[in-house]
Amino acid sequence: MKYKLETIPVWDALQENNECLLCTLMEKAENRYIDYYLGSSVMNPETRVQVNITGFCHTHYQALTMASKPQALGLIADTHLQETRRQLEPEILRLKKVSTVKKARTSIGKIMLLLKARENGCLICSSMDTAFNRYAYTLAYLWGSDHEFRAAYTKTRGICLHHFPLLMDIAEKALQKQTLLDFYQTITENLDKHLDTALEEVHWMTQMFKSENRDKEWRGCQNAHERAIDLETGRGRRKQEP
Ligand SMILES: [Zn+2]
Ligand SMILES: [Zn+2]
Repeated sequence: MKYKLETIPVWDALQENNECLLCTLMEKAENRYIDYYLGSSVMNPETRVQVNITGFCHTHYQALTMASKPQALGLIADTHLQETRRQLEPEILRLKKVSTVKKARTSIGKIMLLLKARENGCLICSSMDTAFNRYAYTLAYLWGSDHEFRAAYTKTRGICLHHFPLLMDIAEKALQKQTLLDFYQTITENLDKHLDTALEEVHWMTQMFKSENRDKEWRGCQNAHERAIDLETGRGRRKQEP
């Protein structure tokens, strides 16, 4: 399967040289989707239907709340809650009329299933997956076809531990044989260097809390713990596991 190439955003993210270029891209994509769902799409009947069916994960509902667009989020919540109530109503009515605990348990079981099913899926997480596949494919493609990109990549920190296996999966679709072998070896070597740098920095940071080092220089390691965690888990990623 081929994906649409996104060479400009991938080059831009590479040049930012953050902890992970895929995280940089995914954070931007996530913010775009949050804006999208709180923008004029709220008035689009097709989007409203999708929102009613799938909704968002807990983290993305919180992100939508934090974006301070009360009217848009109010509209989303209004129709989504109406839909939830429409689904629950028959069981709520049935439960009112039952006279045995056995029958009540059946109704409660159905209500529980419906409520649990509501938490499956997230429109923002699944859009992020689609964007990720395009970005990762483009990264591998550029690496395989553009020497300038390859040289620039080796000078950056590269990618995080969370995105490494995901990128390797996609690379197989973008690259063949010898290029794929080079890719596996070079990207892994880059990750190894990234680990070395992060460890060196975070270790130095821990040493700076010792009294005997109080006159030493921080060497830019004040936030090394944050960079280490970004490397460990990635900042820009889907929030709900599929
Ligand atoms: Zn990442
Ligand atoms: Zn989500």
